Amino acid sequence: MMDDISLSEPILGSEEQRALCDVIESRWLTMGERVIAFEKAFAGVHKVGGGVALSSCTAALHLALEASGIGIGDEVLVPSLTFVATVNAVLYVGATPIFVEIEDLHHPHISIVDAAAKLTKKTRAVILMHYGGYVADLVQWRQFCDQNELILIEDAAHAPAVGKVGQLSDAATFSFFSNKNLSTAEGGMLLSKHQGVLQRARMLRAHGMSTDTLTRHKGHAFSYQVSMLGYNYRMDELRAAIGLVQLAQLENWNRKRFEITQIYRHFLSEKIPNIGIPFHMESETAAHLMPVLLPRQSNREKVMAALRRLGIQSSIHYPSVHKFDYYQKRFPGIVLPRTEEFCERELTLPLHPSLGEADVTRVVESLKDALEKN
Ligand SMILES: *Cc1c(COP(=O)(O)O)cnc(C)c1O
Repeated sequence: MMDDISLSEPILGSEEQRALCDVIESRWLTMGERVIAFEKAFAGVHKVGGGVALSSCTAALHLALEASGIGIGDEVLVPSLTFVATVNAVLYVGATPIFVEIEDLHHPHISIVDAAAKLTKKTRAVILMHYGGYVADLVQWRQFCDQNELILIEDAAHAPAVGKVGQLSDAATFSFFSNKNLSTAEGGMLLSKHQGVLQRARMLRAHGMSTDTLTRHKGHAFSYQVSMLGYNYRMDELRAAIGLVQLAQLENWNRKRFEITQIYRHFLSEKIPNIGIPFHMESETAAHLMPVLLPRQSNREKVMAALRRLGIQSSIHYPSVHKFDYYQKRFPGIVLPRTEEFCERELTLPLHPSLGEADVTRVVESLKDALEKN
């Protein structure tokens, strides 16, 4: 019996263990020097002014919107092909999500043409999601947002440390959940070039308090003021310590993921010519996911079950957000034919830096076998 090939796998070793032990020995567990060091290092890798480390990307999306002044009565253009958190964050601040259609099945980023068609007097922002790690056309979106006086937010949960991610937007959000390219188990980051956004996000992260624990501990301040309604979205020192170790490897791992993606593309187009592979060989990508589009006539659930029996994990990224019960009830009647077709035919294959060429061959051959029978 061969080992299962998992969809994703965090890489954690002795360096992470040592980093965790150091934190425990230091007896300073949250909001300390390591969080600050991780923020600086992460912003540095992205060549962006500054970062705020948070408990999740969901928290980062929430604060990106709130710190940018988006709220009740505002409309925010969002993809439906995304993780539900992207859209939930818009509802957290009381704004209305406006779902934008994807360009086409091979370029499943949101369409600038559809975005333009959905502009109203209330539109205030766009959330761009770099699907699968493939970087959307940031120059074009920056222009679009400048022309229409919109705030540009990147949901970069799939795309850390690649291209110009983080540099052209007003805020970019990242996830360090256990299946992402860099993992701290749970965690997130907000990057922004605007000092005001960073400052507000930093206060919102910790109950709207004017001074933080470390400053008071050092005796630089003795009390604090609360001038806004904040949250507890802090990152702790243990996670920041793991993040710092992981960050040193991130670009290597991204490169490894990219190489594995290229091997997939070759094998897939050779062995299963009727399968669709979104984007192309030269696309700029952090290669977070390996998505394929199954032929129209195949039964995805049966294909996934057959893969499972062959020891191959697979997944779906994503069921479209506007079709979830909660969203259908709240925003009925939305139709996005291209997004819906993509979401019905998409299958995500295993992709992580520890995969070898033999694993990729096995996945592709198993998929070919599963498709022939289903
Ligand atoms: C994972 C993910 C999130 C949420 O990240 P958390 O850190 O788990 O809150 C948001 N958006 C996208 C696109 C994601 O993939």
